[in-house]
Amino acid sequence: MFRRIRRRDFLNGAALAAGTLLSPAGLIRAFADSPEPEEMPDYYPPVLTGMRGDHDDIYKTPHAVRDHTFWKTAGTPVDTGESYDLVIVGGGISGLAAAHFYRQATGENTRILILENHDDFGGHAKRNEFHQAGPMRLGYGGTFSIESPSPYSKVARQVIEELGINVPSFQRAIDRKLYPSLGLSPGVFFDKETFGRDVLVAEPRPDSYNDSSSKQTLKERWEAFQAAAPMADQAKKDLRRLYEEPKDYMPGLSSEEKKARLARMSYARYLTDVAACHQDVVKYLNARPFAWFGLGIDAVSAQDAWGLDLPGFEGLQLDPAPGPGQNRDAIRSEEAEKYFYHFPDGNSSIARLLVKKLIPDAVPATNAVDIVLARTRFAPLDRKDNNTRIRLNSTVVRVAHNGDAARATGVSIAYMRRGQLQSVRAKNCVLACWHVMIPYICEELPEAQKKALSFAVKVHLVYTNVLLRNWTSFQRLGVSAVYSPGSFHNEMSLDMPVSVGEYQCSRNPSDSIVVHMQRVPTRPGLPSREQHRAGRGDLYNTTFEMFERNVRDQMVRTLGAGGFDPARDIAAITVNRWPHGYAYEYNSLWDDFWLNGGEQPCVAARRPFGRIAIANSDAGAYAYTDGAIDQAHRAVTDILRGV
Ligand SMILES: Cc1cc2nc3c(=O)[nH]c(=O)nc-3n(C[C@H](O)[C@H](O)[C@H](O)COP(=O)(O)OP(=O)(O)OC[C@H]3O[C@@H](n4cnc5c(N)ncnc54)[C@H](O)[C@@H]3O)c2cc1C
Repeated sequence: MFRRIRRRDFLNGAALAAGTLLSPAGLIRAFADSPEPEEMPDYYPPVLTGMRGDHDDIYKTPHAVRDHTFWKTAGTPVDTGESYDLVIVGGGISGLAAAHFYRQATGENTRILILENHDDFGGHAKRNEFHQAGPMRLGYGGTFSIESPSPYSKVARQVIEELGINVPSFQRAIDRKLYPSLGLSPGVFFDKETFGRDVLVAEPRPDSYNDSSSKQTLKERWEAFQAAAPMADQAKKDLRRLYEEPKDYMPGLSSEEKKARLARMSYARYLTDVAACHQDVVKYLNARPFAWFGLGIDAVSAQDAWGLDLPGFEGLQLDPAPGPGQNRDAIRSEEAEKYFYHFPDGNSSIARLLVKKLIPDAVPATNAVDIVLARTRFAPLDRKDNNTRIRLNSTVVRVAHNGDAARATGVSIAYMRRGQLQSVRAKNCVLACWHVMIPYICEELPEAQKKALSFAVKVHLVYTNVLLRNWTSFQRLGVSAVYSPGSFHNEMSLDMPVSVGEYQCSRNPSDSIVVHMQRVPTRPGLPSREQHRAGRGDLYNTTFEMFERNVRDQMVRTLGAGGFDPARDIAAITVNRWPHGYAYEYNSLWDDFWLNGGEQPCVAARRPFGRIAIANSDAGAYAYTDGAIDQAHRAVTDILRGV
């Protein structure tokens, strides 16, 4: 554990990866000396390791704007003399889709500029590329897949079709039998800090895609779990009862009355006060909703826990229709469940396919299959001759009409790029960036709208990708994914075994693989949005070195009995930190308007203002790719209606 990781791969937390020798900070420093950094042959952010996602270099300017210190020293923007039909702030899927829709409506000669503060486009849809151990391995830095609890709208589906993505072909791309054929199934790791002892045990109720492997009966799995799990005996009995013995814990109430109560109590309270479970059951189930809510079960309603299929509700005989106040993630439709596609780099391939449509030279792919191996060329993104340009490393700090918004003929947009304040002009502007940022950069908006925009506190979370030289330890221990309710990362899983075109997943345990880990630091007891604010602070204060140490510690404690050696087996780590992650989805415990009726803040937030329209997944309070696309479409429609 305390041996050094080979410095060939790590340098102060940033790996020296194929194609570049620069960390994110090094990249920015290098910018100052080069004419245009994206023109450099080595400019290729997907291979950067260390701290990525919202990495350290991107939030200094936005935070200075937020803290009202930026303009004290910023000076006057240098006018680039550039003028566009449309400027889009934010190069995530919503911003890219807005450019696509606007071009479709107004023709290919329309002049569009997308300004994006990251060194790569795609927003949360980020590609992680690893070259440190054998063949290139891909990981998703954020957006995992085409999936949504609600069916894709006609508009979003059409975009997927126009990009050439054959969603049903996913059934051929995934090898569902791979992990089961090797005897692997999901496990649980109990850590000694939370449960008193470090123990790895097979999940008694494996319900993930690779669950059919177990040769044990369910009864045998429960017995093994109960024998090994370091929980109070009563808690183990209670947990099994929740899963195995359906009971009506709310007798005498109608389904409607039960849902009304469940919507107003946390799942944690339901477990202890209604289902009379031991407190250890709360500890055990606490991290189950992290992946959807970025919150533990103290801040998720029991009705939503029911919607997410968490245990303890079967005996209540609830009407399957969603109840008032149910969170959108907790209402899953069968049709939507079938509409699923995962590229090995997640929805970064969707972002790259969109960019290919906008700037064909930038993405050397011919279809939605060879896109997976295509290496984006960053140099063509912002060429003068393009009708659509994408300008990376550019943080927008001010968006203002030239005069009164109702009569203005254009909008001026100021942004920081490479330490210089610059400005461009546009006839119209789409703000496809995070809503919490908009009140600070667009000061002329009405106060009520600013308040509504500020409501959209993003959900914080981290996806850490760890490249392993082999996965024999997983094989020896018989686990493919491990739920760790008390650990630093609450989940770790072998990459989904998906092969697309020439890209082949890792099939042999002695080959390299990407292990995906998730971290969500929570503050039980605080309201949901307060937990996200506190969690964001936690993420900013956790350095890459702390992540690295915790990854090694957690992996060796979980997998050590299978022969795992962190110094030998870890080849690279990329921490995709998202302090501003998912769009906030409304929650019946904390958002009265959602439960009892009233205007949703996102409706007031997205109202067009003069020549400015507002997109981003925040505009729908819906943290999915289809939401980002739908809101882009609506924002472009607002512009075309003549705002
Ligand atoms: C970890 C994670 C996993 C996810 N998994 C899935 C999934 O599996 N399936 C799914 O459908 N959805 C998923 N989502 C949600 C999905 O990624 C989003 O709904 C969607 O990608 C959001 O796109 P967007 O363009 O609205 O926002 P973003 O992706 O956030 O893009 C906005 C962009 O604007 C930039 N920006 C902000 N302020 C400024 C400024 N002042 N100047 C310039 N640029 C600025 C930001 O840096 C960002 O790049 C996931 C999200 C996260 C965080």
